[in-house]
Amino acid sequence: MLDYKEQDNWPDHLSQWQSPLELSALQATKRQQTAQVINFSTDYKFKTVVGKGNNLQYNGVGQTMIAGRTFEFQQLHFHFPAEHLVNGKTASMELHFVQQNAIGQLSVLAFLVETGTFNEQLAPFYQHFTLNENEETVFAERLNMRALTAGRTQKVYRYLGSLTTPPLLRGVEWWVFEEPLTVSPTQLETLRTDFASDNARRVQKVNERPIVRYQIQPER
Ligand SMILES: [Zn+2]
Repeated sequence: MLDYKEQDNWPDHLSQWQSPLELSALQATKRQQTAQVINFSTDYKFKTVVGKGNNLQYNGVGQTMIAGRTFEFQQLHFHFPAEHLVNGKTASMELHFVQQNAIGQLSVLAFLVETGTFNEQLAPFYQHFTLNENEETVFAERLNMRALTAGRTQKVYRYLGSLTTPPLLRGVEWWVFEEPLTVSPTQLETLRTDFASDNARRVQKVNERPIVRYQIQPER
């Protein structure tokens, strides 16, 4: 199991352009869009869930258009508490939807999660899974990302970083949504109680890298 107390000793931790980062609307370069920069072409169809010791990995398939390029959804996992710090706040949790395109480039869509109203779309993911490390079980669920993100203006940060777990692979394109999703306190607690310790990497240095904040242009 990955030991987060040892994260200062993870290999490659000193390389530049790592993740996660602290992000803020003030510091980012603003880009006004006339259309959404990320579009969910299909539902995500999940097939299995795997125990990862201090995490779960929900494997599935689906298609996402990211800035006009096609990516294939691969897997969802989470972090307690959130890894990205957005506008000075650490959210209760962060969801990572990992995507890959035809030439092997990785892109992660990150959603912060706070407690609030019950989340029907995410309900199947917030249950007790009594899985040992590397144990895999069938998880036949669909997730409609359009329904999950309905009723909100897309405000999203983009930057180049890394995976946040070893091997901390570089060249990963990050898209961090500013507005958190909500789940009920019971939903969060149901999942949280299965994991004894936090699994969030600390924020890393920006090191002069461009951070862009995309927002839909207000209608006139
Ligand atoms: Zn992650």
